[in-house]
Amino acid sequence: MGRSVSPKVLVVEDNELNAKLFGDLLKAYNYDVVSTKEGRYAVDLTRKHKPDLIIMDIQLPDVSGLDLARWIKADDELSQIPIMAVTAFAMRADEERVKSAGCEGYMAKPIQIASFIAMVEKLTAPELVQ
Ligand code: MN
Repeated sequence: MGRSVSPKVLVVEDNELNAKLFGDLLKAYNYDVVSTKEGRYAVDLTRKHKPDLIIMDIQLPDVSGLDLARWIKADDELSQIPIMAVTAFAMRADEERVKSAGCEGYMAKPIQIASFIAMVEKLTAPELVQ
């Protein structure tokens, strides 16, 4: 699609199967992937890699993904990076909490591959999608 540079995606996900699935899918669609299982590294990795998108598991063992999203959105240098939250609990209340933490996208696990990629593409190239 004329993309000269692969967008970079930071995946913050402690579940190994999901982390592998997200990474494999993103690489198959020509994204560069940086990932961590530990939320406490997420903000530093965001600062270091300046990803085009962060995929954020909300349920992390060491820190809340919602708190990470709030910290990133409160940082002037990072706040413009879109965050797509993923959570195993597909409940309406989660979607509202995710939005109020500043995340631009929300997806329930288990993910549907087509919807996952569509949301990633939309969030990494918002000007191409109406
Ligand atoms: Mn998790």
